[in-house]
Amino acid sequence: MSTLPNCPECNSEYTYEDGHLLVCPECAHEWSPTAAADDEQARVIRDANGNVLSDGDAVTVIKDLKVKGSSSVVKVGTKVRNIRLVDGDHDIDCKIDGIGPMSLKSEFVKKA
Ligand SMILES: [Zn+2]
Repeated sequence: MSTLPNCPECNSEYTYEDGHLLVCPECAHEWSPTAAADDEQARVIRDANGNVLSDGDAVTVIKDLKVKGSSSVVKVGTKVRNIRLVDGDHDIDCKIDGIGPMSLKSEFVKKA
């Protein structure tokens, strides 16, 4: 479980990890998390079974999911590797073989 700090430049809470750096999508600031404070409130994202998910986990889709803006469907049982947890209604960012980058809801996956 990891907790990302707010952006030190603009205090945005929508920061995300990119390799060894943290990135702010709002002002494009990048910085190293080693200096980050650890007093941020923990945000826990759980899968359909209540297991805590972390960045880099592999999950399995438990429901056919339509891909927004296309006719593709992510089938039940699709394995998704190396997820990235994000803020928002769809709280998992990932890349699915044959489909590409997309967002999932944690309630529709289970930890592989
Ligand atoms: Zn920022």
